[in-house]
Amino acid sequence: MTANTHEFKAEVNKILDLMIHSLYSNKEIFLRELISNASDAIDKARYESLTNAALAEADADWKIELIPNVEAGTLTIRDNGIGMTRDEAVEALGTIAHSGTKEFIKLLESREVENNPELIGQFGVGFYSSFMVADKVTVITRKAGADASHAVIWESTADGSYTLDDTEKAGKGTDVILTLKEDAKNFLEEWELRRVVKQYSDFIEYPVVMEVTRSVPDPEDEEKRIDETKEETLNSRKAIWLKSKDDISQEEYNEFYKHISHDFSDPAEVIHYRAEGSTEFSALLYLPGKRPHDIFYQDYKIGPALYVRRVQIMDHCEAMLPIYLRFVKGVVESADLPLNVSREILQENKTVNVIKKNLTKKVLDTLAKMKKDDGEAYAKFYAEFGRILKEGIHHDYERREAIADLLLMESTTTEAGQTTTLAEYVERMPADQEAIYYITGSDRAGAEASPYLEVFKEKGVEVLIMTDDIDDIIISGLGQYKEKEFKSAIKGDLDLGETNKEEQQKAYGDLLELMKEELKDLVAEVRISGRLKDSAVCLVSGEHDLDPQMAKMFAAMGQPLPKAQRVLEINPDHALIQGMKQLFAADKDSAQLKEYAGLLYDQALLLEGDKPRDAVKFAKALSSLMAAGVRVG
Ligand code: ADP
Repeated sequence: MTANTHEFKAEVNKILDLMIHSLYSNKEIFLRELISNASDAIDKARYESLTNAALAEADADWKIELIPNVEAGTLTIRDNGIGMTRDEAVEALGTIAHSGTKEFIKLLESREVENNPELIGQFGVGFYSSFMVADKVTVITRKAGADASHAVIWESTADGSYTLDDTEKAGKGTDVILTLKEDAKNFLEEWELRRVVKQYSDFIEYPVVMEVTRSVPDPEDEEKRIDETKEETLNSRKAIWLKSKDDISQEEYNEFYKHISHDFSDPAEVIHYRAEGSTEFSALLYLPGKRPHDIFYQDYKIGPALYVRRVQIMDHCEAMLPIYLRFVKGVVESADLPLNVSREILQENKTVNVIKKNLTKKVLDTLAKMKKDDGEAYAKFYAEFGRILKEGIHHDYERREAIADLLLMESTTTEAGQTTTLAEYVERMPADQEAIYYITGSDRAGAEASPYLEVFKEKGVEVLIMTDDIDDIIISGLGQYKEKEFKSAIKGDLDLGETNKEEQQKAYGDLLELMKEELKDLVAEVRISGRLKDSAVCLVSGEHDLDPQMAKMFAAMGQPLPKAQRVLEINPDHALIQGMKQLFAADKDSAQLKEYAGLLYDQALLLEGDKPRDAVKFAKALSSLMAAGVRVG
């Protein structure tokens, strides 16, 4: 057999290059990455051997061995896990199958990763971190179930290519052999390896072992000492989620969180409990402190790791948590599930559904408690995950009120940057206020400056300011809160009382008709406004139409929408409208009136952040009007 040389994919080269040349500190995390890969490989072998007796082989003494060889200058990380076939090795160790790679490269180029090396693991390029400490990396691997003669040897010096060859390997699994760089020889020392394992891999389920030589008194001759070599386990291997709360320090909780989430900061909250009763399980869940960079990606993995009798069945069980709690990380273990469950079966499984319900309630209760006990911490959490949490109002009808109680938003009475809740809003509502008013927009300043809030300002009515893209759908889904209807400041007819709208509607009736005729292809109606105080006009959507922000979002996604029936509202108190009324009385066929109707429509478009229909025409008309009005003194 000849060795085959293969080129790395371009992105691998780029990453290797950056790994080798840009990362100076914290090189030791390479060991965490390789041990974690070894542990994953054993998880898979262990799981397979439960259902496939042929794969079990004799070697089920699962372990990860560290083998430093001072003479050769190599460190070997050996596992007896699932191993790789030739094709798998080509795929796993020659390419990067990750949608986040581009971002990762950007990140590596920035300095951020140097200060936060844990980011490396987050992007699933862990294996390549070996090249931070090794000039040459050799991988000898044999797939569980394959003959000893069907092993593969992979080797690279990170020079743009790697070689692949057939070889023999006695046991199943993988050896990763690092030929250490001159400045990384410290990873041959027992105490250094102990320290790094303890720091990063203490909770790895399988023993991480190393042969340790000690000088001990010779039992045969007390005067003499002899060398004794023993295999020692370096990690404490605690299945932390099965332990009692009292036996776990905050630090251990945090370290375990970092291990499972690849997050580099501490979690915001730990939820650890054991459910007893008809369905028994242990859950250790975490609310992260920061939004993962990939949470909106298609391949973002949802759900806690699932263990059955200490065997990991899957690393992410999406059937265990609703989609709107996809930020929650953790581990669930239950003895009430069969070992050989598939994802499909899980979706239908009664026990899984009971657990899911229980976890959902626990997470929502925890959030409610956090909000009550530590508003500041909750606001921080909400800033990261509120946008995702509120999807629950849409997806989880049963719990929509519980979730509504968790919403935070700014309002016209809060300081900029400060938030309020629906409950607080309702509490502040005067007895005669019928609806909860809200405005959607991309930011607070824009919403506040818009003409839609004029009447609210004048009457001192509080309006909630909602700035998430999905808010309009969420509020429509909620419908009401504590028996109070929601009403959008930018949609539907508005009547805050005491306006003489009907009289005005009559007085202006003919002018309105004329404008309506002039704009008949553009709006469904022209009416007297209940919301304007300073501006002359504004455009309003129907009560049940999408708000303009949502409509734009759908359009951007290429989803055609039925044309909304928009309404042009006019302000009868505005000098311009009054002037038009007088002009109408004097000459109802005036060409100027018609031109003004069109200009007012364009102006309303501008006010909602849109463009006039024909910018050139609009500017010309405006200039000629200004020319007519311009005068000195
Ligand atoms: P990740 O572990 O995040 O997928 P890595 O770059 O660390 O990224 O590893 C890439 C892939 O290589 C793994 O997904 C796995 O398929 C394979 N691999 C790495 N180490 C081992 C190992 N010790 N045993 C079996 N497969 C491995």
